[in-house]
Amino acid sequence: AAGRDTLCFYDPSMHAQASERAALEVDMRAGLALDQFELYYQPQVDHGRIIAAEALLRWHHPQRGFVSPASFIPMAEETGLILPLGQWVLEAACRQLAQWADDPQLAELSLAVNVSPRQFRQMGFVQQVLATLASTGAAARRLKLELTEGLLLHDVDDCVARMSELKSYGVGFSLDDFGTGYSSLSYLKRLPLDQLKIDQSFVRDVLTDPNDASIVRTILALGSSLGLQVVAEGVETQEQQAFLERHHCHAWQGYLLSRPVPAQEFAALVRAHGAA
Ligand code: C2E
Ligand code: CA
Ligand code: CA
Repeated sequence: AAGRDTLCFYDPSMHAQASERAALEVDMRAGLALDQFELYYQPQVDHGRIIAAEALLRWHHPQRGFVSPASFIPMAEETGLILPLGQWVLEAACRQLAQWADDPQLAELSLAVNVSPRQFRQMGFVQQVLATLASTGAAARRLKLELTEGLLLHDVDDCVARMSELKSYGVGFSLDDFGTGYSSLSYLKRLPLDQLKIDQSFVRDVLTDPNDASIVRTILALGSSLGLQVVAEGVETQEQQAFLERHHCHAWQGYLLSRPVPAQEFAALVRAHGAA
């Protein structure tokens, strides 16, 4: 399958992996039909106020228990199941946005939704987003799509065209896991982005690893010179937050404020904390 002039070894564990994958795929399809997926929400703060949330997918499997998206999302990408799953996420997120709009304390919140490369590149994606906004009544300007650099391995012009069209309706874009992928800096100025997210792998050791500290400072400088908002993710300690603050990064998310939580808990958190 890898092509000519390629030598591969087969070992029995590969068979086990393949059947595990097949089983997971069957379970995921069933899970979608049986309503086993749920969105959790993690607050994002800017200058100390909760201004947005990131929607993060959770799967409650009756036998497997809680399955982490880090394991099933890559598989959903490979099998193509990310298309119906991603559409489910988009719809659930937009329904939530529309619901917040009716509550004065939550109406100003934005919601970030993760979109995988395959989902973004599928035919009709732009129309799908617009149709979902229309059917749920969610405001386009409250929706932010988080894309990853993996997207840029493919047709960049097409990517720019899709983004620009959605942007013309008010949808925002964030580049997730920035600095961990394949992005070339020359793409950065071509993409109609609103935001960069500093990957948590750089934030984790920002106080002890001088390389991570300079990467974080560099991303902040880059964002500011390109006119992009920069959000740090994976902030777990006061010290990390103070470092970011000192370097003029006021937007962040992480366990320091809250883990991703169910919608009701998120609403209670915003009410207690005070929203934008
Ligand atoms: P991500 O988009 O980079 O999301 C951030 C991950 O970091 C989340 O993991 C979140 O729970 C976790 N996190 C947040 N704050 C902290 C912190 O302070 N410390 C640490 N150590 N971790 C923190 P999660 O929810 O397990 O999601 C993993 C990945 O799965 C996401 O990474 C994203 O790539 C993917 N994913 C999740 N939901 C969706 C979805 O609806 N669609 C797509 N395409 N991908 C999704
Ligand atoms: Ca994300
Ligand atoms: Ca990330």
